[in-house]
Amino acid sequence: LASWVGFSNLPNQVHRRSVRRGFQFVAMVVGESGLGKSTLINTLFETRLYQPKHIPAPGEDRGKTVQIESISADIEENGVRLKLTVVDTPGFGDFVNNDECWKPIVDNIEARFDAYLEQENRVNRLKLTDNRVHACIYFIQPTGHSLKPIDIEFMRRLHTKVNLIPVIAKSDTMTDDEIVVFKQRILADIAHHGIRIFQPPQYENEDEETIQENEEIISKVPFAVVGSDHLVNGLDGRQVRGRSYPWGVIEVDNEEHCDFVKLRQMLVRTHMEELREHTNDVLYENYRTDKLKAMGV
Ligand code: GDP
Ligand code: MG
Repeated sequence: LASWVGFSNLPNQVHRRSVRRGFQFVAMVVGESGLGKSTLINTLFETRLYQPKHIPAPGEDRGKTVQIESISADIEENGVRLKLTVVDTPGFGDFVNNDECWKPIVDNIEARFDAYLEQENRVNRLKLTDNRVHACIYFIQPTGHSLKPIDIEFMRRLHTKVNLIPVIAKSDTMTDDEIVVFKQRILADIAHHGIRIFQPPQYENEDEETIQENEEIISKVPFAVVGSDHLVNGLDGRQVRGRSYPWGVIEVDNEEHCDFVKLRQMLVRTHMEELREHTNDVLYENYRTDKLKAMGV
């Protein structure tokens, strides 16, 4: 695989340990059908992790619950090994009654915590397989209004269990001004409902460049993303990943056009280790403590 992902360039010393051992990273995508989850994953990891799926005809039974599907790939970059797993959740929000569509997702996240806990309790704990979900990318429909009840319910149920990374799906369908306003509304809704999304830590003892890079990432949340798995003629005539319209071209990798680059930077370069640490030190630790208490330990 080409060396484009960037995880082998992890900047901080904290990352060295993981870099030596090789590491595991699990990202989950959640959001209503058609919001571009599979496309974005392919755009992020440039591999064809996803094969075209069978789309059920109307009336065909497509199951009554959210499906959980997980796909893994071993990626090696500059001698650093990463086992990347993507967990997809087709079916979310697709049913007549979506009241409990967060439930299978919580169950899946907790089952992964349980599997980790079980390994920790073994006598030989040298090689733990870490299949805990380290980041959950939540796709918000580009309505321009505000969050929907299903969004709020999902995030309220999940924010203590997983690093939530909200993104505005298909942001090429909105104008820049609409995106600015929509982002503010989303953040206001999130604050109003007391939802805790993943906050990249504010750096102090880092170099100026790192601090600035970090602030830029923070300023883009929720990331307005565009996914595309095909090439189009870019502005300067080169072939670029993007989507073309009668009025012009949206380039996925152009920071003037969308926040895809910032999202990828955060996930695989600047904050992968923070996402893993927060999952282990806070989210998993809280789960574990509650579980042991409930068992009377
Ligand atoms: P999923 O159901 O959430 O996995 O959505 P898919 O990735 O299968 O995408 C559904 C449709 O939306 C496909 O026709 C994609 O080509 C299209 N699509 C995906 N991402 C984008 C995007 O960022 N912008 C636009 N306009 N269309 C997109
Ligand atoms: Mg899909």
